[in-house]
Amino acid sequence: MTSDTGDDTIVGRGNRNGAQLFREWYAGLSAAAADDRRAAYVFVMGSLAELLRVFDFPIVFPEINSLQTAVRHAAHEYLNEAEDYGYSPDICGYVKADVATQLRRGQLPMATIPKPGLAVYTNACNTYIKWAEIWERMYHMPTVTIDVPGTRAAGRQTHAGDRDFENDRRYVRAQLEELIAVCERVSGVAFDIDRLRETLGCTNAMNRGWRRLLDLNRSRPSVFNALSDGTIYLGVANSLRGDAAGATFFTELVEEMEYKAAHGIGTLNEEQFRLIFVGVPCYPIFRRFNELFTGSGGTFVNSTYLWFASGGSNVDFEYDLARPLDSLAEGLLVSVRDAMDSMFFQSPILAGMIDDYQADGIVYHPIKSCRTVSTGLADSRRALMELRDVSSLYIESDMMDRRVVSEAQLKNRVDAFFEGLATRRRQPAAVKG
Ligand code: SF4
Repeated sequence: MTSDTGDDTIVGRGNRNGAQLFREWYAGLSAAAADDRRAAYVFVMGSLAELLRVFDFPIVFPEINSLQTAVRHAAHEYLNEAEDYGYSPDICGYVKADVATQLRRGQLPMATIPKPGLAVYTNACNTYIKWAEIWERMYHMPTVTIDVPGTRAAGRQTHAGDRDFENDRRYVRAQLEELIAVCERVSGVAFDIDRLRETLGCTNAMNRGWRRLLDLNRSRPSVFNALSDGTIYLGVANSLRGDAAGATFFTELVEEMEYKAAHGIGTLNEEQFRLIFVGVPCYPIFRRFNELFTGSGGTFVNSTYLWFASGGSNVDFEYDLARPLDSLAEGLLVSVRDAMDSMFFQSPILAGMIDDYQADGIVYHPIKSCRTVSTGLADSRRALMELRDVSSLYIESDMMDRRVVSEAQLKNRVDAFFEGLATRRRQPAAVKG
């Protein structure tokens, strides 16, 4: 990398800035905890951050806190503490890490988080509802469930203007109005529709960047790794949703990726196999897990994680600032529905992803802790194999619990997968010869 090409300043800028923004966000949460301010606890699928910012709530994403304990190799301490307290080894590891965090008065390896003043969540995952009940028992604070109607059957998505869609939108909007009343009561801040317009505008700009980013990874070589780099981008997309800093970050990130695409700069010295990842990453060995693939010339060009965990940034939808509340309801409906579709009706979309990104293989990673995204993956894989002739790998571990992560076993399976990919690639040449 030389300065006259500009590589040394622009390439890698997104990862550096993303990590910095993330540190600042956690520093802000620690400051809020020190002042004993009460936070809004939310989840990545339907966070409603744009609305909660209007009431000046510090926003806490317990899923992100929990995964950070695993990335920082401390998850086992938190899981053990929650299990000693009485939670079963079988349930979602994110919940248990959060329970231990609450028992430690919000203390995490990277910050101290404020206590909840309210919790807001959708039905995108059943666990969200039971998880919020834990906080309700601990803190006696209000919890608000937003019931978002999902797609009724494969291929039966409804759209703006359809009668069913309009009914669903009105149903979600009515719940948002109830939520606003709770937010006003808890925060003591009056609802300001112009402030909502501002936060929605920031999310619009951020989401345009996110979708462009996904498009740019179709280039060869691909310009970012959906598993490793993508997780940093997801952190910013969620934590800074509705914030001007998030919008700026993604505008600059697109600039970086356009530069990389124009100059043929990929993530590996030689990109040999383009892969798609299905599921949640293996955070206890995050870096080494990714290296199992990159070490053999494989890189992840897209994933379902960038789809369901992006808070709807991937969906081709923009808030209409002329009718903010209606549009917020519509955005929540389409984004949460899309996240649920990523679990229930994923095969046709994965088939399209394979075509668009010219993928050589697909890696399924069901995990013990998260039944929501893991249930049915074996069937989904079978359905996809009927649609597309690509290599697939099915490996199981966990996103939190290192007791069920066997690195040696994973490596054997991944190595065999790459041998298969290489053999497949040689076959057409041999036939032609
Ligand atoms: S079960 Fe899965 S989707 Fe639900 S809270 Fe746990 S990790 Fe998140």
